[in-house]
Amino acid sequence: MTIRSNIEKTLDNAEKLNGSLNSFLKIDRDYALRRAEELDNSGAKPGALHGFAVAVKDNICTSFSQTSCGSKILGDYRPQYDATAVSRLIDDGAVIIGKTNMDEFAMGSSNENSAFGNVKNPWDLDRVPGGSSGGSAVAVASGVVRASLGSETGGSVRQPASFCGIAGLKPTYGRISRYGLVAFASSLDQIGIFGQTSRDIASLLGVIAGRDKNDSTTADVAVSDYVSELDNDISGIKIGVPRALFGEGLDDEVRNSVENAIENYRKLGAEIVDVELPNSKYSIAVYYILATAEASSNLARFDGVRYGFRAEDAHELREMYMKTREEGFGAEVKRRIMLGTYVLSSGYYDAYYSKAQKVRTLLKNDFLSAFEKCDAIITPTSPSTAFKIGEKSDDPLSMYLSDIYTASANLAGIPGISIPCGLSSEGLPIGVQLLGPAWSESKLLCLANRFESEFPLSKKPEYFV
Ligand code: GLN
Repeated sequence: MTIRSNIEKTLDNAEKLNGSLNSFLKIDRDYALRRAEELDNSGAKPGALHGFAVAVKDNICTSFSQTSCGSKILGDYRPQYDATAVSRLIDDGAVIIGKTNMDEFAMGSSNENSAFGNVKNPWDLDRVPGGSSGGSAVAVASGVVRASLGSETGGSVRQPASFCGIAGLKPTYGRISRYGLVAFASSLDQIGIFGQTSRDIASLLGVIAGRDKNDSTTADVAVSDYVSELDNDISGIKIGVPRALFGEGLDDEVRNSVENAIENYRKLGAEIVDVELPNSKYSIAVYYILATAEASSNLARFDGVRYGFRAEDAHELREMYMKTREEGFGAEVKRRIMLGTYVLSSGYYDAYYSKAQKVRTLLKNDFLSAFEKCDAIITPTSPSTAFKIGEKSDDPLSMYLSDIYTASANLAGIPGISIPCGLSSEGLPIGVQLLGPAWSESKLLCLANRFESEFPLSKKPEYFV
């Protein structure tokens, strides 16, 4: 079988499902087939990802396709260059098949904030896939590709992975280059990876991780051989349980399923210990202050001059800026810019922004002390299973609360992985999250891999090719 025929089948599947799921904003058929033919003809095998199809979130720059960030303000904007993560995948032989739908500028937890229509959950078309990387999650959950790239600022890979019944990794801050990832909140943003299993994630991570001269925030820390370390022994690994986080607001079925996963880890030889994360209760407040503050500054560049959309009928420069931003951004993005501008404004800066920075340090210290007692921490990924489309779209606060278990890892800069741990009585996937100290991706993937091999989900989604 040639790479071309494989990729052609993948593209057909993507096109066939997209009418129902809307997970791709652009399926790059011509580009992907050309690339596949090149690989078939070259004879050489550049790397382990030779011929491997990957979907990429539409806030990661691709010179051969669009990069819209799910926003009208960028529309079909086409970057001049590839993100480092993308070029490393291509150099290893992967074939990018298209760009995936997302909440506008990665702001959201349901994909309902996309300017190009919401993504549907392949387990139940009336439900959201999670967000903001919902399209990348669904491209994997529906079986079109084995792996995809997403981005994480506060949970945007782990939460949709949990809603869609797949694996999703948020790496340590500095592990994967963000050159070419459109900035949302730069002290939190990371590219993340979805996989049908953690093995798929490991194979991509090994290729894209590591120092990049184009991103000074990447760290010069050795990249492990994640794939070969997947099968390491997990017996004796200490898993910490922050019991205080299993209380109010957590759906009973999710709680039971995660408790069950903890028991299963014990049976697999892990040692279960209690840990405390006393400041975690502030994570949502801190996250929504810092992320909006940084976003208000990062999004200032979208002014109608340099990229994408420009409003018509403006008579002078200031009016052009205002009209472009008024017409180009959606409601949630405007809400965040206003919130962020407010918390940074004089008189409020100390009360909100500085205070949030201090609490961020406390949160980080909580993790440092907890990891003196354990190798990994286990929690639910999200307090509920996938909710109904429209259920939370008029209530931003309840939407923000979906990030309660995920945002603290971004604030602390540590890695986390979500894997499926069961199905609810309605047949929806439930996710469990493992968090580890900085640079512990290998251990997290190994723990995840062991669980997935022993306790796979008993069903595939309704929409699966
Ligand atoms: N749901 C969070 C938000 O709306 C997280 C987003 C993200 O990780 N990109 O900001």
